[in-house]
Amino acid sequence: MRSKVYILYTGGTFGMKSTEEGLIPSSWQEIIEYMPAIRNQTYFNYFSNIDFTFETLEPIVDSSDITPETWKRIANSIADHYDTHDGFIVLHGTDTLAYSASALSYIFENLQKPVVLTGAQLPIFHPRTDGIVNLSNAIYIAGYKSFNLARIPEVSICFNDDLLRGNRSVKTSTNDFEGFSSPNYDNLAHMEQNIAINENLLILNRETELKLLTAFSDSVVNVTVFPGYNPKPLLDLVNSDKLSGIVLKTFGAGNLPSNSQWNELIATCERHNTIILATTQCPNGKIELGQYAASNVLQSTAVVDGYDITSEAALTKLMWVIGNYPFQERRAILAKNLRGEISTHN
Ligand code: ASP
Repeated sequence: MRSKVYILYTGGTFGMKSTEEGLIPSSWQEIIEYMPAIRNQTYFNYFSNIDFTFETLEPIVDSSDITPETWKRIANSIADHYDTHDGFIVLHGTDTLAYSASALSYIFENLQKPVVLTGAQLPIFHPRTDGIVNLSNAIYIAGYKSFNLARIPEVSICFNDDLLRGNRSVKTSTNDFEGFSSPNYDNLAHMEQNIAINENLLILNRETELKLLTAFSDSVVNVTVFPGYNPKPLLDLVNSDKLSGIVLKTFGAGNLPSNSQWNELIATCERHNTIILATTQCPNGKIELGQYAASNVLQSTAVVDGYDITSEAALTKLMWVIGNYPFQERRAILAKNLRGEISTHN
């Protein structure tokens, strides 16, 4: 069966070329020279029944320069081609890939088609590049109809031999080809010689009308607690109404030091309508408020339980919820499993 795949190139190592000034992004025309299976679809045959649309999101950037405005532009580009294509690929730098994948997952409600984000640790021009494998794997997922594969109607990250739920992913290596992992959720697919899709893990939306909510608040911070941390500067920010939300990365299963500064911070957040999304700083596992006495301070109306959410998914969820919903609705929406980003049960 033929399928139509839309590829949006945003930048990152994937298309970087070496110059005297260092690594700089190249054009899609230059990249395609290194993807024979795309450049010459008839001769190589593998992708001969796929119609590709390529677009570049100008300006091409290192993903350190990706912003919520970029997330909105990526989402709108996909939405513009949504009815005419079967699947979507976003080529993106790896540094902030997990943030963008999480953000896009919240933006799209009722997604019915695959949106696959990928990139590379070594540029496509490098003899040992991982870019060809990563993009080829992404094409199989986005062009699923042509390969008789199951439809994965989620925002995912395809990297090395893993297909991961986007909002469950973290960048875990700056140089391994196995650059991403999903600490609290199994792979959506394992892409070895055969592609094995875990169909029982997929989110299948019953509603079919795609909706986009693209606002993100910038009055949030991500705070990691450490022994001896003094929350006074944070308290000052809350007191001056500069913060609408805090992702608080607590010790272990949701624990904080037992000094009165923390009680004061939480009470001040209650008075100033600042929401705390409580998460763990452990790479793996979840918070369990009340398990230890040291977490009791978080039993407050200012605090929302983040369960097993990743740091990237927590921060983007908080930004998105604050950006799109009035204060009265925020706590309830944050506590919900919106796009498979948390497991609220054991
Ligand atoms: N600095 C690059 C970026 O995130 C790294 C990469 O793509 O791997 O754009």
